[in-house]
Amino acid sequence: MSCSKSYLIKADLHLHTTASDGAYSPKDLIELAAKKQIKYLAITDHDTLQGLDEAAKTCQERGIVFFPGIEFSTVYSQHEIHILGYNLQLTNPNLISIVKKLQNSRWLRMEKMIAKLKSLGISIEKEELAKFSTNRNWGRLHLALVLQEKGIVNSTAEAFQKYLEPGAKAYVPRYRLCPFETLKIIAKAGGKSVIAHPGLSKADHLIPLLAEKGLIGIEVYHPAHSENECLKYRQLAQKHNLIITGGSDFHGHLAEDLKYLGEMPIPLSTLSYLKSN
Ligand SMILES: [Zn+2]
Ligand SMILES: [Zn+2]
Repeated sequence: MSCSKSYLIKADLHLHTTASDGAYSPKDLIELAAKKQIKYLAITDHDTLQGLDEAAKTCQERGIVFFPGIEFSTVYSQHEIHILGYNLQLTNPNLISIVKKLQNSRWLRMEKMIAKLKSLGISIEKEELAKFSTNRNWGRLHLALVLQEKGIVNSTAEAFQKYLEPGAKAYVPRYRLCPFETLKIIAKAGGKSVIAHPGLSKADHLIPLLAEKGLIGIEVYHPAHSENECLKYRQLAQKHNLIITGGSDFHGHLAEDLKYLGEMPIPLSTLSYLKSN
């Protein structure tokens, strides 16, 4: 990512913690962000609200403006589309029940994937997963990390390619929301919906439809986006009257993740907009 920097305040609106598949606890990640002079941040763990209370408390102690968030993995006609929700009411009953359903489906899927790996001669115990995430909200990245640690693969990318991605030997699908129903869930909980890293989803044709149904922003700045993609999504945001956001999508398992933390050029107008809502 080499999009030009034109920001004055350091911010990061896309961060993962141990509440999902990140390497740092919410508290440790915010301490790290404070050291990097980040002034605004959002925690956006996959399909979970865990960790947001701890994050809010630590941000308050460090004088950082905090936006509670979530990242929903949705699917629409074979396209994987991630929707970020910001400023949600965390006590919203509908949101809580959806999140519970998604977590249960992740659990069930994990059991099935472990069984498939076993049938391939690869034995994985739950304790091994617990080394990478103590809160048991396990995803495929945790399995990939265990496979890497056991020396079965050389990298997490290889783990996905050989075993964990759709079509691979140990892949098991799980219950997923559709992006349009996700927009409704977020709106009902008083939140704002932003499409995450559209350059990875390859579903640009859906952005105008999502904008009509309540999408309010596009994550233009993301480490996986090229300069051309940043330009394309900036123009698309302007065309459809969407706000421009950005985030490092920090997970913290790789040393290079630190390079991007708080380094995406998020417009001040976006931060003011989120702060006032
Ligand atoms: Zn994502
Ligand atoms: Zn993410």
